[in-house]
Amino acid sequence: MQFKDKVVLVTGSTRGIGKAVAEAFAGQGATVIIIGRSQEQAAQVAQEIVQKGGQAQGYGCDVTKLEQVQETVNKLLDKHKCVDILVNNAGITRDNLFFRIDDNDWDEVLKVNLKGTFNVTKVVARPMLKAKSGKIISIASVIGITGNAGQSNYAASKAGIIGFSKSAARELASRGITVNVVAPGYIRTDMTDKLSEAVQAKVLERIPLQRFGQASDVAEVCLFLASKAADYITGQTIVVDGGLAI
Ligand code: NDP
Repeated sequence: MQFKDKVVLVTGSTRGIGKAVAEAFAGQGATVIIIGRSQEQAAQVAQEIVQKGGQAQGYGCDVTKLEQVQETVNKLLDKHKCVDILVNNAGITRDNLFFRIDDNDWDEVLKVNLKGTFNVTKVVARPMLKAKSGKIISIASVIGITGNAGQSNYAASKAGIIGFSKSAARELASRGITVNVVAPGYIRTDMTDKLSEAVQAKVLERIPLQRFGQASDVAEVCLFLASKAADYITGQTIVVDGGLAI
């Protein structure tokens, strides 16, 4: 129960990695705030956690809309003293070769993945600054480090998260707030299930640990980065990819 009495906000936690991260924190005693665009889905995931004995609340909030993020965090702060831990996880893909990516698919990916991370961090950092403590973790991707054919918009957004996080880490360090990044490789979720079997088989050949990751592999690293054991770690990117990018 290492996160008892802590409030943890996880964006994009209605399914996949975000849901696993929220469940892992709830399993360690935290009150978790579930965020997805649909209020109904967020409330349902929160209810599932509560039924398993955890503490959770769900909010419908689009991370690309700063006013919605502000309203949601205001509501939270009416109930809780602070947000102790933020996990920026909401993310999308719109894959195509870069010369075929239309404006809309470029903008949407940058807006959700990078601007969404900026919006939520900006709003949640304020109460953290007041509290002089906090842990911010953003989920990037190994693609933001290596690049990938067909994912230039996604790679740019994820590389952006790494650069943004290093800068925020420098700005927030003197106030006791750490900012780190987790860069997963291929993790089994709805996002990767969309890939064809042929693509999945090709990727698997390149993973030294010979398996796709589980959402729990990412969740465990988030627990570590949010724990006291990681108090002296900031501005770092931890790659969780089974060795794919070695
Ligand atoms: P999923 O597609 O399974 O889930 C994405 C989550 O983000 C959903 O809860 C979705 O909820 C939410 N979301 C999307 N857009 C918004 C928005 N505008 N505002 C609020 N929430 C939003 O993705 P994964 O679990 O696979 O991925 C999670 C994160 O991990 C992403 O950032 C992804 O880039 C990253 N990642 C994933 C990898 C993988 O192999 N799966 C590898 C590397 C990184 P809803 O649609 O209800 O709004």
